Amino acid sequence: MAEVRVTPEKCNGCGACVEVCPYQCITLEDDIAVIGEGCTLCGACIDECSTGAIEMVRAKKEVDLTDHQGVLVFGEQVDGTLSPVVFELLGKGRELADKLGEDLSCVILGEKMEGAGADLISFGADKVYVYDNPLLASFRIDPYTQILSDLVKDVKPSIFLLGATNLGRSIAPRLAVRIRTGLTADCTGLDIDEKGNLLQTRPAFGGNVMATILCENNRPQMANVRYKVMKRAERMEGHEGEVLLRDADWNALEDRVEILKSERESGECSITEADIIVSGGRGLGSPDGFKLIQGLADALGGVVGASRCAVDDGWIAYRHQVGLSGRTVRPKIYVACGISGSVQHLAGMQTSDLIIAINKDPNAPIFKVADYGIVGDLYEVVPRIIEALKNGG
Ligand code: FAD
Repeated sequence: MAEVRVTPEKCNGCGACVEVCPYQCITLEDDIAVIGEGCTLCGACIDECSTGAIEMVRAKKEVDLTDHQGVLVFGEQVDGTLSPVVFELLGKGRELADKLGEDLSCVILGEKMEGAGADLISFGADKVYVYDNPLLASFRIDPYTQILSDLVKDVKPSIFLLGATNLGRSIAPRLAVRIRTGLTADCTGLDIDEKGNLLQTRPAFGGNVMATILCENNRPQMANVRYKVMKRAERMEGHEGEVLLRDADWNALEDRVEILKSERESGECSITEADIIVSGGRGLGSPDGFKLIQGLADALGGVVGASRCAVDDGWIAYRHQVGLSGRTVRPKIYVACGISGSVQHLAGMQTSDLIIAINKDPNAPIFKVADYGIVGDLYEVVPRIIEALKNGG
């Protein structure tokens, strides 16, 4: 693990590093540069230092691994409601904790969230840490980072799981730098090896290979986990645990971001939550093709998804994109119209319960994962399906 270090004998106290640090985390103490906690290892100070007093050092095994125990899950909440990914993290977290013979805990930051703590225990958590303060009601990157890094340093989990949501993707890298550990983003598989290390699997090289990543020398082993790839935790009747209300030095918490206004995007379709998705790809030929896709989605009571090509061509908004660089979905029914079935698209939908593909090319790879395949022109097939549905067929 790398670290930026100052050799006091070489430092002349010029302060050039203080000026150049983009994160304002260097101070001068007795005319010697001191690197603060927020250092991201960007190296700007090293380039600026004329005396060579600042350098990047690689420290080996600075962490006593046996000191760290248990699995911690970030109980992300939005507007006081726990994100659905939390229950998937609890399901996987419970499995990992049982394999290690250790505890599963969860942390919630918010306002009036104590009740949610009890709920998480019934979903398998042994301990729930709750930070309750109006300051934490909605996501604030600075206080959230400070509180979570303090908690991790205090309770020393061996594994720390966060959802690969916008919030989770935003906070996890900052935490990993603060805690000086590794982070695997966007995991789709997690397991424990024979030495008790976390095996973190994620797509790599554009989804063409699955890479399994280890963090052997540092703790906690941190992972952002994709929504809808892990099995949701089941309610465990009679499971016991404790909710621990935690305090923080609220007045000392820094918050450099001022939120002037926040607005919910209107007309947002929630493909991640939908039971039925009808997706269109480049085979539609034009943006107008999505009117037909919408017609089928309406007839089935579903929502509209899309391939990346359709999104890249500007036919439909990104929030509809299914796949590696879009959303992972797991509906009861997924209908792919004019979509070839690239590995990147399949990565986002192949765990759907029932897949129906409509494509005029009988050799299209989408048929390999489809439960039902219709070879034909979607402009002939889809109107007939809509008609049949309208007639109660
Ligand atoms: P095409 O591959 O062009 O397929 C169109 C299909 O429509 C063909 O099979 C054709 O036979 C059929 N067709 C044509 N006309 C008709 C008709 N009239 N009736 C019926 N069928 C017809 N892609 C994603 O979808 N999601 C992602 O998240 C994603 N992430 C990516 C990330 C990376 C790093 C990379 C490198 C690529 C990513 N891609 C993603 C792109 C992916 O590789 C493919 O290019 C893309 O999925 C192809 O989209 P498509 O199937 O709509 O188009």
